[in-house]
Amino acid sequence: MIRTLLIANRGEIACRVARTARAMGIRTVAVFSEADAETPHVRACDEAWPIGPAAAAESYLKADVILDVARRSGADAVHPGYGFLSENAGFARACEAAGVIFVGPPASAIDAMGSKAGAKTLMEKAGVPLVPGYHGDDQAPAILSQAALAIGFPVLLKASAGGGGKGMRVVRSEDELPAAIDSAKREGKASFGDDRLIVEKYLERPRHVEVQVFADRHGNTVHLFERDCSAQRRHQKILEEAPAPGLDPAIRDAMGRAAVAAAEAVGYVGAGTVEFILDASGTFHFMEMNTRLQVEHPVTELITGLDLVALQLRVAAGEKLPFTQDDLRITGHAVEVRLYAEDPARDFFPQTGPLTRLRFPQGEGIRIDSGVEEGGAVTVHYDPMIAKVIAYGRDRREALARLGSALGRIEIVGVTTNAGFLKRLVEHPEVVAGPIDTGFVGREIATLAPAGEAAPAAALAIAGFAEMLAFDAAAKSAAARTDDPTSPWARADGWRLNDVGHHDLDFREGERVTMVRMAAERSGEGRGWTARFDGTDHHLSGHFDADGSLNVRVDGVRHRAVVVADRDRRVVFLDGRSWPLVLEDPFTAGEVEEVGHGRLIAPMPAKVIRVDVAVGDRVARGATLLVTEAMKMEHTVTAPADGVVIRLAVAVGDLVDEGAELVVLEAVDE
Ligand code: ADP
Repeated sequence: MIRTLLIANRGEIACRVARTARAMGIRTVAVFSEADAETPHVRACDEAWPIGPAAAAESYLKADVILDVARRSGADAVHPGYGFLSENAGFARACEAAGVIFVGPPASAIDAMGSKAGAKTLMEKAGVPLVPGYHGDDQAPAILSQAALAIGFPVLLKASAGGGGKGMRVVRSEDELPAAIDSAKREGKASFGDDRLIVEKYLERPRHVEVQVFADRHGNTVHLFERDCSAQRRHQKILEEAPAPGLDPAIRDAMGRAAVAAAEAVGYVGAGTVEFILDASGTFHFMEMNTRLQVEHPVTELITGLDLVALQLRVAAGEKLPFTQDDLRITGHAVEVRLYAEDPARDFFPQTGPLTRLRFPQGEGIRIDSGVEEGGAVTVHYDPMIAKVIAYGRDRREALARLGSALGRIEIVGVTTNAGFLKRLVEHPEVVAGPIDTGFVGREIATLAPAGEAAPAAALAIAGFAEMLAFDAAAKSAAARTDDPTSPWARADGWRLNDVGHHDLDFREGERVTMVRMAAERSGEGRGWTARFDGTDHHLSGHFDADGSLNVRVDGVRHRAVVVADRDRRVVFLDGRSWPLVLEDPFTAGEVEEVGHGRLIAPMPAKVIRVDVAVGDRVARGATLLVTEAMKMEHTVTAPADGVVIRLAVAVGDLVDEGAELVVLEAVDE
């Protein structure tokens, strides 16, 4: 029996583990960094201990500090979640030595699967089918080249210690090989302190299908079917579903058995995932095993009706699995997407900022796993995931339809998110028809993440209308205060501003400014407004409902919309999409323009990792000026126009805040 569980993680996974543990009557202990003192995972637990500064290396990755909290809080088990210490064999061993249960496999299994090369050697012995390739010890470039030639192009180089798609290079011909080996080795060394590579046949248009396995300490190992994670961008998962669409039951069965064999070969205990790549001919090959709970475990929970965290805790406490393989069935279909603070229109650049508004839809078959809340923030310190949005249905079509609808009803203000991108993805005809291959998202990126789409006329008209209603309401309360129903403050038709009785509102979207002229209409009984812009008049009428949403007719068509105001920002949520606008203040607009000229600022808090220019340098439009890094992603700052560097505010190694000046260019006109 586990009585007290320390959750060595944060965010949604910490909240999720706490929920199950508490339902099982287990006392829960959270740990938190300085950046997380007020976050939901802290409140989700019975008690919470500070473990250090925001940087993960100084808090969530501090094995000794966390173990010390385990001891002092009387925890008899530690759940590592995913990421951080979850695949750290040293931590698993330290727990064991301290007499604390590590909720995960034995350290030896983590070690065995920790290197892609070692894992492949083991799997080969266990008779698990592999991707053809080289995973030997001899790492001389000549040997690696020879292996690539023997395998045949295209090949994929992978850092043996890799993860998260780092250190991977697709090589299509012999002459690209030396440079690719070089750079993959460098990336492996920089990211994992290990430059060993493996070489694999690069399979064209494959699917990523992984199998969830579970083992207890009594020699029972089962699989909980598969998940298809083929929707990937740069080898990173975006959408995961279970079961894999259109998978031949005989292949499902064979993959399940291969996964169980893989787990048994390393003496596995607990929850694990065996990843396979499935080629176009239906042949599957072992890729790697993740020795922890996966981000995408909820889809398996929904189709099996099991709580994987509860199972992990029971197995960790020494219980037997409460079922056999034959007891397990797939019921229905589940799909999950990862909602991130990132900007698809700017190459998915991660975003940070306050979560001024954060509302998730509820509905049949919808599950939201989130670790942030309205009033919180997405910071530079951790992964910018806001939530996992998961939908379940009787079949795939129903699950996808529910997910698409839920994505359209999410309201987030403060950071740009990938919600629109995800909605287009789950509603894409090829995704709906299914299955897709791992290259699908890359090929369709222009459709899925269109650059800077302009707000439709209805959104602009509604933004103007909401402004007028808000103004009306403010005027009414002012009138109430004056005690004079005939006071001019009781009128909001613009009489005070100018003779013709209208308000001009400048809404900016990116570079484009639209002047929306709002004029009150006096026909009929209910008062409406006309919004005039781009040479067209739109007629609007409606009101705010009790929940704050707008019930509005635009040119006769009824819409339900939400307009959120945050300082000068107005975000219009309409028909399942959102349109961020800036309401320009006519008195300050001029100043803003000038400040932006030629002065490049940090789009987010980051570290400067490279500087390519010096004061006095002449640079061409598009030239790299410097490179910053935040959230493990590099961001290249380029010259917006031809110019001369007249000021350089940073050097390599500097940490800069969002909005900090980096470089000032003076334009050269020729
Ligand atoms: P990481 O551990 O860095 O995530 P993986 O080995 O799990 O790396 O591979 C990540 C993704 O890269 C896979 O899901 C798959 O889409 C793609 N991939 C891996 N190996 C191959 C291969 N041999 N051929 C084609 N695609 C591959």
